Amino acid sequence: MTGTNGTTGTTGTTGPAGAAGTAGAVTNWAGNITYTAGQVHRPSTLDALRALVASAGRVRVLGSGHSFNTLAEPGPGGVLLSLDALPPVLDVDTDARTVRVSGGVRYAELARAVHARGLALPNLASLPHISVAGSVATGTHGSGVGNGPLSDAVREVELLTGDGTTVTIGRGDARFGGVVTALGALGVVTALTLDLEPAFEVEQWLRTELPLTGTDFEAVLTAAYSVSLFTDWKAPGFRQVWVKRRTDQPLPELPWGTPATEALNPVPGMPAGNCTEQLGVAGPWHERLPHFRAEFTPSSGDELQSEYLMPREHTADALAALDALRAELGPVIQTCEVRTVAADGQWLSPSHGRDTVAVHFTWVADTAAVLPVVRRVEAALDGFAPRPHWGKVFEMPGAVVRERYPRFDDFRALVRELDPEGRFTNAFVRGFLPALP
Ligand SMILES: Cc1cc2nc3c(=O)[nH]c(=O)nc-3n(C[C@H](O)[C@H](O)[C@H](O)COP(=O)(O)OP(=O)(O)OC[C@H]3O[C@@H](n4cnc5c(N)ncnc54)[C@H](O)[C@@H]3O)c2cc1C
Repeated sequence: MTGTNGTTGTTGTTGPAGAAGTAGAVTNWAGNITYTAGQVHRPSTLDALRALVASAGRVRVLGSGHSFNTLAEPGPGGVLLSLDALPPVLDVDTDARTVRVSGGVRYAELARAVHARGLALPNLASLPHISVAGSVATGTHGSGVGNGPLSDAVREVELLTGDGTTVTIGRGDARFGGVVTALGALGVVTALTLDLEPAFEVEQWLRTELPLTGTDFEAVLTAAYSVSLFTDWKAPGFRQVWVKRRTDQPLPELPWGTPATEALNPVPGMPAGNCTEQLGVAGPWHERLPHFRAEFTPSSGDELQSEYLMPREHTADALAALDALRAELGPVIQTCEVRTVAADGQWLSPSHGRDTVAVHFTWVADTAAVLPVVRRVEAALDGFAPRPHWGKVFEMPGAVVRERYPRFDDFRALVRELDPEGRFTNAFVRGFLPALP
């Protein structure tokens, strides 16, 4: 079975975290996608990377392979390459409060290097295992009404284009809005420069049993620096609320739910020990903002994911629409997370121009059972103009997705400028941007 965005019907074998599968099969992290390219090219120098790109037809870069669809698929005969054999660059400039990081580096490594210099990133996703370049390419985000997606921290992108030249595009360049969340469609991101801030500490206060009816979701979601709600939709309301407070900000009143008395995992049945420390114990930003510890399997490891981003004003109505689908959601869901993202300026960011509520689904690892429910969710949320997460499973037609992005034509013009032969375009991208080479 194949979904409209190329999700294969088999769950397959789970690839190792580096996404280079065994026995000739190259899969994504979840194992639901087997790339047609039987191997991943891993150049170990920039010259070798340049030569590889110059000699290839279609090219796609695989980051850490944590996307759940065919976004990274180069297509038959195309080259799939990874930057993980290149020497990692992590140049922290403490005076300028920036870091220049190479295209294969993951957030866990980056966060450790930055923290060691007394600095921090403003936010992180639920896990630190993912590559920086791959994450910002898809609009990956954490939570917090004042926090944009992770791409907000990027101030400059270095891009190896199909003709072998490196183009550097920073804030202030009219093209900047298209180059960070670019779905890998403009070239190989060889390095990114990110803004940093002084290191800070965070406490996690978990609460349980938040009802759907009568809850002021705006008050809950704005209570602290980063707030996440979790439910499995098997019962009404939310099983867990994760409140991440910066210790340099006031401790909020939490007059709802019940305080958790032990550490919890948001995925039922998974050990709490896989998660970052809770129960109000203060710790460094990079050991509290992600839900999952770098040294353990994040989430359940045996799963599919989908996520829809909508204007935050629709939170209560969107959750009520999902509550009406509980009978269908319950059998195929492991956990559902509700987060917020501040509006940002990247043209293809799912939170572009909209203060956002993001509703995420961790499904069971059964594509055939999940896709019909994905379509039901999309129909239920349609009135709230949802934009799907680029790295997760969705079924929305390309034309519908396109209508939800006011700057799509600008992005298409940028692809034509930087990649006139369409070397970095694939079937996934052409599904949204027809008439590309
Ligand atoms: C367990 C789990 C938890 C997750 N939690 C979150 C979460 O909290 N928030 C959230 O928003 N998402 C989350 N995701 C989704 C994930 O963040 C995205 O799929 C993200 O893109 C993963 O980064 P990656 O490097 O693995 O990307 P990949 O899947 O490897 O690649 C994604 C895209 O980036 C491109 N790309 C990668 N590197 C480069 C490069 N150097 N140059 C050019 N293009 C490049 C690829 O070609 C592809 O198009 C989660 C996923 C998993 C599996």
